[in-house]
Amino acid sequence: MNILDELDIFYDHYCGEKGIIGYSRLNKPIYRFSLRKTFYPTVIVQCAMHAREYITTYLCLKLIERFNLFGKVGTVHFIPAVNPDGIEIALTKKPLYKANFAGVDLNVNFDAKWGKGEKNLFKKGDENFVGNYPFCEPESKALRNFTLSLNPQLTISFHSKGQEIYWEFCQSGYERARDRQIAKSAKQVTGYKIKSTPNSCGGYKDWCVQKLKIPALTVEVGNDALAHPLGKENLEEIYQQNKDLLFAVIKRYMELKCKKNL
Ligand SMILES: [Zn+2]
Repeated sequence: MNILDELDIFYDHYCGEKGIIGYSRLNKPIYRFSLRKTFYPTVIVQCAMHAREYITTYLCLKLIERFNLFGKVGTVHFIPAVNPDGIEIALTKKPLYKANFAGVDLNVNFDAKWGKGEKNLFKKGDENFVGNYPFCEPESKALRNFTLSLNPQLTISFHSKGQEIYWEFCQSGYERARDRQIAKSAKQVTGYKIKSTPNSCGGYKDWCVQKLKIPALTVEVGNDALAHPLGKENLEEIYQQNKDLLFAVIKRYMELKCKKNL
């Protein structure tokens, strides 16, 4: 049974609040699971935007169970697989595939300095194609619309690999200081390194930071020495590193908010 089958079964058997934020190019549902412990803050966790990084879908299912059991603060909306068509391609034909069915790299299709990234391509392919215009793909559009409908306080994007955390996108002043603190709290629990990515543009994280003015992290799970796509045998180690990340960033967010209000 592959990860898409596992996700379908998980969705069918899940008793809590769940739904579909939209459909992929090939009409596959993009599932979300919503866990409400307290009303505030609202957090979005999204995974497997890049096809070959479906280890993050496995991780997401475990994080849902953990938050369900141990989460005390916040409402978290988990989206385990933003790019189900791409995952299917990575599982069946091209193991290193990153894009969606149309050959668009969804994580450069967001409207945040769109098309200005160092590795951006303007022709469809396995990776790095920005699309014909921002949000031209149903998957990026669905995630944008879902995000705007919630107006979250924080977003986390899981990718693989490298054991790194990205948080910057031209923030300044209070927002910059706040977002650095949030990233540091993620670093403390995961042991991952914080890294600058000055030449990347058009990502979901970038769009959240620039347009929504909220802290947004990209967390690259898995040791860089491992080969793509990371298999399920790596899941336990990755889960151990990331199991408390959500609790830590929500806690730090609330602390910073309280401090600001004083
Ligand atoms: Zn990625």
